[in-house]
Amino acid sequence: MRCGWLDKVSPAGYKPAMNWLSNFVLPKIRAVVAKKPVPDNLWTKCPGCEQMLFHRELEANLHVCRNCGHHLRIGAEQRLKILFGDGGFTRIELPKTLVDPLKFRDRRRYADRLREGQAAVGAGNDAVVVAHGEVGGFPTVVAAFEFRFMGGSMGIAAGEAVLAAAKLAVLQEAALIVVPASGGARMQEGALSLMQMPRTILAADMVKEKGLPYIVVLTDPTTGGVSASFAMVGDITLAEPGAVIGFAGARVIEETIHEKLPDGFQRAEYLFDHGMVDLVVPRAELRAKVGRILGLLREPHPPAAAAVASISREPS
Ligand SMILES: [Zn+2]
Repeated sequence: MRCGWLDKVSPAGYKPAMNWLSNFVLPKIRAVVAKKPVPDNLWTKCPGCEQMLFHRELEANLHVCRNCGHHLRIGAEQRLKILFGDGGFTRIELPKTLVDPLKFRDRRRYADRLREGQAAVGAGNDAVVVAHGEVGGFPTVVAAFEFRFMGGSMGIAAGEAVLAAAKLAVLQEAALIVVPASGGARMQEGALSLMQMPRTILAADMVKEKGLPYIVVLTDPTTGGVSASFAMVGDITLAEPGAVIGFAGARVIEETIHEKLPDGFQRAEYLFDHGMVDLVVPRAELRAKVGRILGLLREPHPPAAAAVASISREPS
């Protein structure tokens, strides 16, 4: 039912009053009453001791837990900053490769997984980042794996990146340092990803044949096809404390051989004890140690082998 007199008296005056209330007063009240959203990335739980770590403190300590010394996984960009330090570095553009060559689909499309990975690490990137600069005063090329990109898996783009890093090292007469953090070959690229194993070995050989140092810094995790190729043929093999390094996972091995594996199996320290790793280096000492090793390899006085042995005897 329409009320004639109200239409005549105040249809125009009534509405603006409501607009003023809903558009101006209500949002103000809501802004005062509503709780401010708390960013959920201020604290990180340490995977080693489960202590909550404040993000700024964690960053200042190079993402190493102050409580238990656990080395948390870091991105490629952080890795480059740690290795090159204040000297800075220049990232190189990597060759474009075939995208989704098999048009692969498992539970989800590979193209979607790639897009998701790029959202995490930046458009146009894949699982390996390459940069050059100086470490300890020596020209150095670093290829660092990005675990956030599909578990650092090695497909064509990653293989191509390692190869590009090797070529750049040869061109600049620089040392090559590769820092793997990878679950292994990228199954979405099938045999093409397995072909990156011999390709990356050839890349390492290219550097060695020129008499340039090839150093590998094994980080958590280095497994599968990556550990079965370029990651295990370094002139010097370093590892971060506690890093898982192996080919097949411990559970798979236990189920296959029906035996309990020893404590610390596939950890950096275990591999050091068994001669597979030359040094276990805490992250805070990494740049200084790498610089010193490069010095010994490039200016070998006294004989490099003896000097490297002397470093490994130092308490870390
Ligand atoms: Zn901890």
